[in-house]
Amino acid sequence: MPQRRIYLDYAATSPLDPRVVEAMLPYLTDVYGNPSSLHATGRRARRALEDAREQIASTLACQPTEILFTSGGTESDNCAVLGIARAQRAAGRGNHVITSQIEHHAVLHACAQLEAEGFRVTYLPVDAYGLVDPHAVAAALSDNTVLVSIMAVNNEIGTVEPVPEIASICRSRDVPMHTDAVQAMGNLEVSVATWGVDALSLTAHKCYGPKGVGLLVLRQGLPFQPLMAGGGQEREQRPGTENVAAIVGMAAALHIAHEERADRVAHAQALRERLEQGIETRLPWAQKNGHPTRRVANISNVSFPGVSNEILLLRLDLAGMDVSNGAACTSGTVEPSHVLRALGKSDEVAASALRFSLGKDTSHADIAAALEILESTVPALRAETAVTFESSGLS
Ligand SMILES: *Cc1c(COP(=O)(O)O)cnc(C)c1O
Repeated sequence: MPQRRIYLDYAATSPLDPRVVEAMLPYLTDVYGNPSSLHATGRRARRALEDAREQIASTLACQPTEILFTSGGTESDNCAVLGIARAQRAAGRGNHVITSQIEHHAVLHACAQLEAEGFRVTYLPVDAYGLVDPHAVAAALSDNTVLVSIMAVNNEIGTVEPVPEIASICRSRDVPMHTDAVQAMGNLEVSVATWGVDALSLTAHKCYGPKGVGLLVLRQGLPFQPLMAGGGQEREQRPGTENVAAIVGMAAALHIAHEERADRVAHAQALRERLEQGIETRLPWAQKNGHPTRRVANISNVSFPGVSNEILLLRLDLAGMDVSNGAACTSGTVEPSHVLRALGKSDEVAASALRFSLGKDTSHADIAAALEILESTVPALRAETAVTFESSGLS
């Protein structure tokens, strides 16, 4: 039997909930129709698709007609940033976009694309804990601003941004606001109505749903330019035959995340406290990154100065433990995290940071084992690194 992995990377992806698998199975087998077909086989698939849309709308407090199904968080973010900004500019509303320095690359790189198309983009700084200041958003708004995109929860440090406050400022200036809520699902009450946003991105695989499916909520009547050309699916806004089984799975996953949120948060909170206290006792020189209170329960970001997070990650991997050294999409490159840099952290702190992210299946035994592994790995690596620096004359 292979040893059980200590998986502490739920913010990168999560396993399928067995209840989600069960909900999906009929649509991977018997119900195989194309939802756009007019015959009975197609109509069965259409029915499942529209039921899923209605269920999701009720979970997220929006209208079913405001939901576009996509291939995941990245596509949803791209659709929101590019699709809204381009449509607004085409309508003569301006060419200025506001976002933050700590967004996911799906937003940041879409903004870079807009800059290449002649848009002006303001990348708002954050404070030392990763918070965007709503006053800074207000100050950056101009008559030319066509979109504000600020994430709900940062994926590396877990900081919860003041989205309702920013949305209210945007509404008073008649500027649409998008939020990437990927890391919020299951952690916060995600409500389009309460938050007052005009567009919201989600993905299924970060909350026990399938990979490769997500959604974008787009408020009724918001100008939008599709990114792809093709058939008329998703109200002419996102062509391509819908991934019915995955969408049914996503509806189940979002529903369960909504229903079980309080339990999940309490569970993660208790485990994270144990993890952080354990690290503090065993490795008192480690430093926590992110906001002390305004953060989701399942993410802990800790720096181990004097240690390379890349090497540490590999040592922990050998010891049976899965963690992240930054956003999964940037690992493999040696660039220190753009998020930790925006917090004003030194290169040493940024390059020694690990993200531990917990899930509903994480146990107290997992945390106890993780602490043992950290205690036997980190000080040894730190000592080795110090010796290497001395012998190379770099100390
Ligand atoms: C994971 C993630 C995404 C990308 O979602 P995919 O479905 O993997 O494309 C976008 N934004 C945030 C905050 C994320 O954590």
